[in-house]
Amino acid sequence: MTRLVVVGGDAAGMSAASQARRRLAADRMQIVAYERSSWVSYSACGEPFHVAGQVDRIESLVARTPEAFAEMDIEVRTRHEVTAVDTAARTVTVVGLDAGTEFVDSYDELLIATGATARRPPIHGRDLDGVHELRTLEDAAALRALADGPPDDVVVIGGGYIGLEAAEAFVFRGWKVTVVCAHPGVLEGTLDEDLGEAVVSHMREMGITVLTDTRVACINGDRSVESVGCGDRTLPAKVVVLGLGSRPEVGVAAAAGIPLGPTGAIQVDERQRTPVPGVWAAGDCAEVIHRITGATTNPHLGTIANKTGRVAGINLGGDEARFPGALGSSITRVGDLEISSVGLSCEEARAAGFDAVDGTVEGTTTAGYMPGARSMTIRVVAERGTGRLLGAQIIGGPGAGKRIDVFATALWNGMTAADLEWTDLAYAPPFSGTWDLVAIAARAARRASS
Ligand SMILES: Cc1cc2nc3c(=O)[nH]c(=O)nc-3n(C[C@H](O)[C@H](O)[C@H](O)COP(=O)(O)OP(=O)(O)OC[C@H]3O[C@@H](n4cnc5c(N)ncnc54)[C@H](O)[C@@H]3O)c2cc1C
Repeated sequence: MTRLVVVGGDAAGMSAASQARRRLAADRMQIVAYERSSWVSYSACGEPFHVAGQVDRIESLVARTPEAFAEMDIEVRTRHEVTAVDTAARTVTVVGLDAGTEFVDSYDELLIATGATARRPPIHGRDLDGVHELRTLEDAAALRALADGPPDDVVVIGGGYIGLEAAEAFVFRGWKVTVVCAHPGVLEGTLDEDLGEAVVSHMREMGITVLTDTRVACINGDRSVESVGCGDRTLPAKVVVLGLGSRPEVGVAAAAGIPLGPTGAIQVDERQRTPVPGVWAAGDCAEVIHRITGATTNPHLGTIANKTGRVAGINLGGDEARFPGALGSSITRVGDLEISSVGLSCEEARAAGFDAVDGTVEGTTTAGYMPGARSMTIRVVAERGTGRLLGAQIIGGPGAGKRIDVFATALWNGMTAADLEWTDLAYAPPFSGTWDLVAIAARAARRASS
């Protein structure tokens, strides 16, 4: 009998547990998952929509309860934090957070799926009432309770996708929203700077105040937040949302001597094994290989967490699976502007040493004469000379964003801009022009790269 201990009960951890159980019945493998929070198998991705009131019941964000896992012979212990791992003795130290008890459990196989935590730079006042991150379901419930109150001023610090989704949620609830962002545009690292600036223009049209190139100096208040200070401005604030990015949660792993890679996340091979015998890692806490650069990367995406967890679980269950790498495909929206990207931005491609060019085109989401046609911009990044596709970015009205999946498929298969230009894409007036803007953008990139 093998005993599998899973640390962290969300996307990666519970995907792995489920996959292992499918392959090995309870008489061959015991599975226990320790989860620090009160919830397992939840959708953090749905949290902004709960704050917005569009998803009313927080329980709707839970894919599978501990009771449902118990029916699969997977023991889930919520409110239990693993505080130490001894890889020589193959044990974990666990603290029951409600009873305050500590005990030691042993494992044959250990999966670390501790995810990521919000970055918390030392801004004065960040512990005041009314200042929240948006990471856990508890955070989402707290922000929802505030959003349910009379509309007031909210300041969102950070222009990443979680900051933008939080901003959209509060706009939806009628609040006066200010986003403070240290860069000239939002979604730095996802979009090139000029496209990030175009998103800022759209947010301003929605009535959101966006302060770019601005750093928050302090959060003010007595017990509860009252204002945010940045430069010579003081912004009134009943609520502050910290959206300053995330970092892999690797404290317990690092303390146990489990090697971290250059990104600061846990080093794994393509089967999700760490270099330490019997220890595996998956999800936001683990590195993955970027399929374009070949370098390790650590994107914090639910898609990749689910897949790497699945790979770990298949291997733990005795079959063989290898994670084939990531492209970092992502999509979000602010109001009715859809924003998506895949692969490398122009800036990232050049930083990675590629001689990168881009083709950028503007058009409409449907045939231009159709009611509801909305503008859309597509940028395709390609390598000069070979025309190999390196990345794509899209911003535009409804229907724009998921076009990124065409580029994801093309990049996945190593296609060139010329290959994509002639791909047989579907057309009818409610969906695109005769030449979809995807193909027109590929043509622009082919010309730029030749
Ligand atoms: C607001 C928000 C919106 C998002 N939207 C999207 C989206 O639209 N698309 C997308 O692809 N991704 C999105 N993501 C990212 C996605 O949610 C994560 O990539 C995914 O949840 C990672 O799964 P994971 O299992 O690796 O880690 P997590 O979901 O972080 O789970 C790790 C779990 O481990 C627990 N844990 C940590 N340390 C310990 C310990 N020592 N002992 C016990 N338990 C521990 C934590 O409590 C946590 O529940 C979003 C994230 C957030 C926060």
